[in-house]
Amino acid sequence: MLPMNKCFFCSGDLVEKQVTEIVRGGGNTATLNVKALVCQSCGERYYHADVVRQFEEIKAKLETQKTEDFKLVGQAFEIS
Ligand SMILES: [Zn+2]
Repeated sequence: MLPMNKCFFCSGDLVEKQVTEIVRGGGNTATLNVKALVCQSCGERYYHADVVRQFEEIKAKLETQKTEDFKLVGQAFEIS
């Protein structure tokens, strides 16, 4: 648990929730479900240090195309 229970920005109450986060890297995206503290007032999310580390690892894997252990669930398109 993070050592905080009030939002840094608006002092709203923080509640631990399961959230869906999108990580992008090298034009690829990965979606994962993680626990985060979510501000009940402004919606700001606070992540545990190990979750932030997980994001960084996934981002690095996306950038280097090391996605063998990820499950392909769809494709990303860019509309210009
Ligand atoms: Zn807030």
